[in-house]
Amino acid sequence: MATGYVDGFERAMGVLGLDVEAMEEWLLDHNIERCPSCDWFVASHELLNDEGEIDGLCDNCRS
Ligand SMILES: [Zn+2]
Repeated sequence: MATGYVDGFERAMGVLGLDVEAMEEWLLDHNIERCPSCDWFVASHELLNDEGEIDGLCDNCRS
């Protein structure tokens, strides 16, 4: 799901008429956040560690 958003990110912005800030807000509303480490868009829960705390790494960066 997140991959689809990444692929179509710029196209989606054009279609929806959103700028980057509005788009990121929209993504947040849908529990998708940008990984601060790799800039990949991932589900918000992926930025949590096993204790449920935010460590700022997506599954890709952590593994
Ligand atoms: Zn990452």
